[in-house]
Amino acid sequence: MKYDYLVVGCGLYGAVFACEAAKKGKKCLCIDKREHLGGNIYTQEELGIQVHKYGAHIFHTSDKEVWDYINGFAEFNHYINSPIAVYKDELYNLPFNMNTFSKLWGIRTPAEAKAQIEAQKREFVEALKGLQSQEAAEASIESGSHGAAESFIPSNLEEQAISLVGRDIYTKLVKGYTEKQWGRDCKELPAFIIKRLPVRFTYDNNYFTDPYQGIPKGGYTQIIEKMLENCQVLTGVEYRDFLQQNAGKDQPDTFCKTVYTGPIDEYYEYRLGALQYRSLRFEEEVLPQEDNFQGNAVVNYTEREVPYTRIIEHKHFEFLQNKGTVITREYPADWQPGMEPYYPINDEANNTLYEQYEALAKKEEDVIFGGRLGQYKYYDMDKVIRAALDTVRQELG
Ligand SMILES: Cc1cc2nc3c(=O)[nH]c(=O)nc-3n(C[C@H](O)[C@H](O)[C@H](O)COP(=O)(O)OP(=O)(O)OC[C@H]3O[C@@H](n4cnc5c(N)ncnc54)[C@H](O)[C@@H]3O)c2cc1C
Repeated sequence: MKYDYLVVGCGLYGAVFACEAAKKGKKCLCIDKREHLGGNIYTQEELGIQVHKYGAHIFHTSDKEVWDYINGFAEFNHYINSPIAVYKDELYNLPFNMNTFSKLWGIRTPAEAKAQIEAQKREFVEALKGLQSQEAAEASIESGSHGAAESFIPSNLEEQAISLVGRDIYTKLVKGYTEKQWGRDCKELPAFIIKRLPVRFTYDNNYFTDPYQGIPKGGYTQIIEKMLENCQVLTGVEYRDFLQQNAGKDQPDTFCKTVYTGPIDEYYEYRLGALQYRSLRFEEEVLPQEDNFQGNAVVNYTEREVPYTRIIEHKHFEFLQNKGTVITREYPADWQPGMEPYYPINDEANNTLYEQYEALAKKEEDVIFGGRLGQYKYYDMDKVIRAALDTVRQELG
């Protein structure tokens, strides 16, 4: 068979590309090495609950076109992400907002909260005066309430975080969680990992600031199935094996172009070296006798001694009241070859290596690299859809 595109990867990027290409009359063969469609947004029904098999996925965007686009494949509910943080026996609302501050310090007004945070930032910078240049520290403290932390140059993530939100929030809500995520002490992590730690001086627990947010009724997998309904699809098929098997056929399939959404370094057989990632391990528990395990979809565990970073209770994404529940504990993990690469590590060394692969990719006339692995980039779902739509428009108008 002659195809216009071989799409490698049936995640969101590959599916959007193939769907739009098919609408333009192009023939696509879509393959995925996993046994299911959807890549990391795959959901599977268990006890009548849509379980997010690769971590909680909440759709949120400020891109109206993308929101309208995704709503063309499923109806979305009104879920608003409002995570809870557990630190020892204390519970706090996230993101950091007046509910969090009120619980932390027993205060009520935004002015009191601001004063607390500023005092803690100032105290921290002053304590470090001796370690950094006297003039720089003095200039920053003289320059007013925010200035103390602004002109201070943090040398690691701990200093960066305390200079942004003060010691209490850092100790109870940032430190342990971040150390688990990265597998290292905050003092050993570079400051750039945390550029901002937004604090909100309103009683608003909505984690995201985008105007559009929700969870698709019936899960994400059906969206991908609909996107691919006019394409040929093969699951459980790895790209290199596919090429070999296809080449061995009497009448091999042919493709004008390939859209590759797997890891870019793997495509080039790691000839310049391997890119690094952080991985995750998911431990799922089906609890048929438990109706409501934790009362919220997302509960973060912010102390380092608890080995997982969060527990997801999937039924709360859908406001279900049915019998039984399913929870997933999420454990951060060092990535080793063979494990699922979840988060790119965009430090200088990896970015430089990626740029070298990207330079190779740019020379390819018949291969388009896309998605989180093809572009070595953490992409939220809305950004993946935007990127795939833009690419398909460039290609096909
Ligand atoms: C834990 C976690 C939570 C997240 N939560 C959110 C959230 O709440 N909101 C949000 O907007 N975004 C979230 N994201 C991001 C979201 O998962 C991505 O935006 C999206 O899945 C990226 O789609 P993709 O097609 O680029 O990649 P993928 O979903 O990874 O798809 C790539 C596909 O290619 C296949 N593949 C790879 N190599 C090969 C090969 N050699 N041969 C054949 N097939 C291959 C893979 O099996 C995979 O199915 C989260 C990500 C993670 C890791």
